[in-house]
Amino acid sequence: MNRTQSAPPGHPRSHAAFARALKVMPGGVNSPARAFGGVGGEPLFFERGEGAYLVDIDGRRYIDYIGSWGPMILGHSHPKVVAAVQEAAARGTSFGAPTEAESELAELIIEAVPSVEQVRLVNSGTEATMSAIRLARGFTGRDAIIKFAGNYHGHVDSLLVAAGSAAATLGVPNSPGVTVGTTQDTLVLEYNDAEGLERTFRQRGSQIAAVIFEPVVGNMGCVVPTKAFLHALREQTTSHGALLICDEVMTGFRVAYGGAQSVFDIHPDLTTLGKVVGGGLPVGAYGGRREIMQHVLPAGKVFQAGTLSGNPLATAAGIATLQVLRDEKPYDLLEERSARLAAGLSSAAAEVGLPHSIARVGSMLTLFFASEPVRDWPTAAKCDTARYSKYFWELIGRGIYMPCSQFEALFVSTAHGEAEIAATIDAARRSLQALSVQ
Ligand SMILES: *Cc1c(COP(=O)(O)O)cnc(C)c1O
Repeated sequence: MNRTQSAPPGHPRSHAAFARALKVMPGGVNSPARAFGGVGGEPLFFERGEGAYLVDIDGRRYIDYIGSWGPMILGHSHPKVVAAVQEAAARGTSFGAPTEAESELAELIIEAVPSVEQVRLVNSGTEATMSAIRLARGFTGRDAIIKFAGNYHGHVDSLLVAAGSAAATLGVPNSPGVTVGTTQDTLVLEYNDAEGLERTFRQRGSQIAAVIFEPVVGNMGCVVPTKAFLHALREQTTSHGALLICDEVMTGFRVAYGGAQSVFDIHPDLTTLGKVVGGGLPVGAYGGRREIMQHVLPAGKVFQAGTLSGNPLATAAGIATLQVLRDEKPYDLLEERSARLAAGLSSAAAEVGLPHSIARVGSMLTLFFASEPVRDWPTAAKCDTARYSKYFWELIGRGIYMPCSQFEALFVSTAHGEAEIAATIDAARRSLQALSVQ
């Protein structure tokens, strides 16, 4: 990892803003991935987003592939989403009482994701996975859960065991403050390892409340599940009475309108959502079979609550986003543009003879600086992260804002047109050429 590189010249305002932020916030940020720990140097501060572009406070424009880490599938400042939020705000920002809009968003989710019969809205992906785990334990009366190395499910204590995402890049497999007692109930297995899963169920099947997994991993870079793995997940959980929790916080409404479960024919008991479902405002959701969801308070006894859950602004942004996705069905277009981008990045790397592999599902993809395909955390960990950080900074200099870590997927939005894709491939080619002569 290259920690000595500082922000390139020409960002004096970002530099000053970061110095100010460092005084008042730990690491100068409100979420660690933003601090550029995975690529070294100082983060850029932004002023506004327009479609596929972000503008930093020094007035530089970038084609954005982080997309707020997933939510911005319609690009920034989509007029319908902005109008919906403005209208909602004018009617009052929070009531702490039911609104019809909450049922509308719930109905949109249930229509889109057939395995979800009832849903509870929360404020983040973390809340969704935390609540789904509690519900699975309450429903089954069991304590243990299984997660997979390199999968990230938010900063839930019991899931911060060999965590992926920013924690993976930073080399912090466990967080201080997560108790040994908590982690004892979490079994961490390798992704795509059907045999490992079967072995664990043979040994401890009767204690396992749930298996939680990313149906397409985004948080160690984009990693695609094997058929055998997906089959084992459903078969083992069913035969041992455990619940299968499909964490679609990143993939939901992203890889398809019905999420990764519709692409890979997965039939989970519970699904967690976030990111796109809030259209850029803080929304998460968990849902599944009615029989299970009926255990959530006040229908049942599993406690879960939220002062701002189903907030009118957040709900309005979510509804507006899902309506556009449902009505305009942009997924073929996203597929086509993303495929072109993946092919362009791959041939740019091949031209300069860089060992690489590309993984993509719909509009999420990763160019890995690794000589073999990435299928789990051990293969992801072999990537050349120092090379990735140079590539990242070369691209910043050319007006492309890529994920600031090898272990994050990039996202294409409906606002990324032919011109943006072509410009990105061109910038990547120049950047990789610059790398190969260094
Ligand atoms: C982002 C993410 C989360 C956490 O969501 P937050 O809204 O950041 O709390 C959980 N699971 C997956 C798969 C994610 O990508």
